[in-house]
Amino acid sequence: MTPKKDDVDIELIEAATSVAKTRCRRDNHTVACATRCSGGQIVTAVNAYHFTGGPCAELVVIGSAASQGYYELERIVAVGDGDWRIVPPCGRCRQVLFDYFPTIEVIIRSSDNYLTYSIAELLPETFDWAKQDRQKTLERADGPRSDSRRTGAGGTGKSLGESFDGLSNQCWSDAGPDELDASRGA
Ligand SMILES: [Zn+2]
Repeated sequence: MTPKKDDVDIELIEAATSVAKTRCRRDNHTVACATRCSGGQIVTAVNAYHFTGGPCAELVVIGSAASQGYYELERIVAVGDGDWRIVPPCGRCRQVLFDYFPTIEVIIRSSDNYLTYSIAELLPETFDWAKQDRQKTLERADGPRSDSRRTGAGGTGKSLGESFDGLSNQCWSDAGPDELDASRGA
């Protein structure tokens, strides 16, 4: 691996450290996270610890950024509340970060150095869930196939599971706030 040692995003580390010092409350909130959005903005969040699998700070910050309209994240760092040291992302978060933002950079502390890794470096030979999902979407858009021939879009032949998946994806991607409110009876 070839992490970057220079040009480390110190402002991002300071943002996460500040939130860890001022906002984390044991035992529910033990880690703070800061992310740099593609437009340069910094968004922060804390984890929501729970024995059932409460989300890590890295996952909360993805949703927090989205709630502010930031969907492209370029860099991320997490800091623990105990000694305010950088915490590397767990395996689940590495997979989610890779699938959401394949080029995102992760700041990690090694000895006395801050190192910046690409998420792909932290998850070599990974399962590319996003790529698999894109492939499925493309195949659906192409329509069902018979043997090696394309039979055209809009045909029949999808399994119930495939149809349901397509429907649920469409609901989330196509429905605007007004439609969602309407569906809730608002
Ligand atoms: Zn995690």
